[in-house]
Amino acid sequence: MKIIVIGGGTSGILSALSLGKEGHEVLVLEKNDKIGGLCRSENIHGYTVDIGVHAITMLNNGPLIRLLNQYSQYLPNFKPYGEYYIRTNQLYKIPVSMHEWMTTAVIPHKDKLLVTSKIIDLMTVGFDKDTSVYDIVKDLNLSEPTSEFFDTFSYFLSGEGMDKTPLWRLFTGAGYIPEDDIIPFIYNDLRINPLRTSISKKFDSGRLWNMVDDGLLKSIKNKSKKYITKFMGEARFGSQGYPLGGVQSICDCICNSMKNTTLKTNEEVVQIVEENDKYYVKTINDVYEADVIIYSAPAVTIPNIVKNVEEVNKYNEKLENIKFSKSTTIWVGDKENYFPYLGSEVWVDYPCWATTTSNYDPWLAPKGKHLMGFSFVNSPEKDAIMAIENKLNINLDKVDMLHVQKTVPEHASCAIDQFFIYPKLKNNFYVVGTDSDPRSMGITRAAYSVEMMLSEFKNIHQPTNVNIQSE
Ligand SMILES: Cc1cc2nc3c(=O)[nH]c(=O)nc-3n(C[C@H](O)[C@H](O)[C@H](O)COP(=O)(O)OP(=O)(O)OC[C@H]3O[C@@H](n4cnc5c(N)ncnc54)[C@H](O)[C@@H]3O)c2cc1C
Repeated sequence: MKIIVIGGGTSGILSALSLGKEGHEVLVLEKNDKIGGLCRSENIHGYTVDIGVHAITMLNNGPLIRLLNQYSQYLPNFKPYGEYYIRTNQLYKIPVSMHEWMTTAVIPHKDKLLVTSKIIDLMTVGFDKDTSVYDIVKDLNLSEPTSEFFDTFSYFLSGEGMDKTPLWRLFTGAGYIPEDDIIPFIYNDLRINPLRTSISKKFDSGRLWNMVDDGLLKSIKNKSKKYITKFMGEARFGSQGYPLGGVQSICDCICNSMKNTTLKTNEEVVQIVEENDKYYVKTINDVYEADVIIYSAPAVTIPNIVKNVEEVNKYNEKLENIKFSKSTTIWVGDKENYFPYLGSEVWVDYPCWATTTSNYDPWLAPKGKHLMGFSFVNSPEKDAIMAIENKLNINLDKVDMLHVQKTVPEHASCAIDQFFIYPKLKNNFYVVGTDSDPRSMGITRAAYSVEMMLSEFKNIHQPTNVNIQSE
């Protein structure tokens, strides 16, 4: 079967890797001159600079690791990410567990008690899909610093402030609720609470039978208790890391493990037409024929490119409404290391996420130098530069290297009313990428969408006798 993958970002190359290894003939068409999309690193004056500041989530058996374990010969070498800090007048650890909440100095004591009891309450009774962080916070009469904390945290989780950030995003982002549990909630508009989401959990039928055996009421209690226990203790659902060699190493591991796959760069797809169960994919240079399309370019571009596919066109209006957030990342190379610890920090007064990537891998910077990244959401470049100079008291004209990137970090922001397309549009047309799965973020989200696509694809197309091809 001939498969064409449109776009060679993380979701596109993961799709190509898995489908090629499953024995299909795959062609990837990428419009840029390099494969990798946003999961790339580039050499800037001797520094290995990623596209954006990265932390890769869900490394304890999340979708990226599951796919790589199954299909890749090579695995990136992930270094534990360290801690998340918040910088006000000094540096504080971001509180994520009950113990950290109760002992943090960044939030006034009264607010800690209010927030803690509200979290326990919500995890027990549940909440609606469109409940925003603000809907909950506004009635608590929190102090200004605590409100600002939630607003900033919301920005980094969804690209929006707390009024547009869904509460479920905060819970999954903070690791209190497992990400898989929100899938039926998003696609079927269920109420999120431990009972309902676990009943309809897609992939684990064993768990469903256990619950039926257990009895309904007992399950509600058990599940709620499990989430709350996570909050009370230090353990969370997930682990994070940074790949040695930069995020390019993830892309390289995938591409170097491919089978039955051709990668073509500088091939922008301009039109896809369906005729007699075949697709004709037109690029600026050529026309290619396929049995199956995997669309990994932003889904918002589908209405312009896909012309006569009814199942696709019915989503056109929703697709056109997909919102992006924009990011500005300033990379600074210097002999001074402003973040001499493993981890990263968030600034509240001027929302920014900053880290020194050369702390994880010194080879990313020339000897004796450090590489620091500062990612801002929806901020103009000059404001971002000013914020760094003011906060760290440095003159960016005098540093060894300064590099500015403006990008769209995800194909869809995880905001209230946001549309996420389900990966299977029809038996021979699938969409993957960060607009086709709401779980987690970035590279992990892209990998989740590929897992979902694969499970749907295999149900329909996978011959039972095909084995995964190895070297
Ligand atoms: C500032 C910043 C910070 C980030 N932080 C993190 C983080 O901490 N953790 C994390 O996991 N992720 C992070 N990410 C996001 C992560 O890099 C992306 O979400 C992920 O790489 C997206 O993969 P994708 O395949 O969905 O899309 P993309 O990487 O966007 O790939 C889509 C590809 O399709 C191609 N394309 C588009 N149109 C066409 C066409 N018509 N024809 C052919 N090809 C086309 C594009 O050129 C691109 O290569 C960050 C990104 C940025 C910018």
